[in-house]
Amino acid sequence: MTLIANLVSLHQVDTQARALRSRLEAAERHKTLQERQATQLQTRTDEVRAQIRHHQSAAANHEAESGSVDARVEALRGQLNASTNPRQYSAILAEMKTLQTKRDEIDELALAQLQKAEELQSKLTEIEQQAAERAKVVDSAKSEFNTCRGEVAERLASLEQERTAAAARIPRNELEAFNRAADLYEGEAMAELVTIDARRREYVCGACNMELPAEKYASLASNQDVAVTCTSCHRILFLPQVAATHS
Ligand SMILES: [Zn+2]
Repeated sequence: MTLIANLVSLHQVDTQARALRSRLEAAERHKTLQERQATQLQTRTDEVRAQIRHHQSAAANHEAESGSVDARVEALRGQLNASTNPRQYSAILAEMKTLQTKRDEIDELALAQLQKAEELQSKLTEIEQQAAERAKVVDSAKSEFNTCRGEVAERLASLEQERTAAAARIPRNELEAFNRAADLYEGEAMAELVTIDARRREYVCGACNMELPAEKYASLASNQDVAVTCTSCHRILFLPQVAATHS
């Protein structure tokens, strides 16, 4: 086989391997993205749960404080009932009133904390629903990825072997040019040299559509063992009949 024919074979197997790899990569990207979003939702769930616990424990502290103020009020009530001295009586009464006001304030604080906890609880329910839905999407993304990997793995391994074999038939410089163009154009390393008008010797690159000097055609038509690249995009050129023979 000529150099150009070998390059065309390499191009064909390289294109197929790239397509399979990118299919697999797309499935993996989708899976990773879904997993990341699921993790974010889980983190958010944990945060809201911690906030709820915080407000609940603040409310419990206020309730305990209110209880002890209340006990003090009850103790004073006992003293009040036993009191025979009017000055002592009014002093106890005044203290009781102060304590009752304080208790009411504490009760309001407790209530405010409980309300915050309740608001967060409905937010939590919402996030938990989102997390449950996301978990389903993650499961299907995982199974899609596994199916894709199962389908692709074997074919990809054999294509990569074929690619290695095809690459081994190309001299070093030409292989480097091929790899460079393949990386640059996502696998589209080769382009057809298109004849626009043979009589006027008008030729273009089939990939970038830029005009090609007639010498490029002359070289390729006369010697299939010399690689010719497009002046503009540097893809390796081939004549349509070469592709037809080997596809
Ligand atoms: Zn070009």
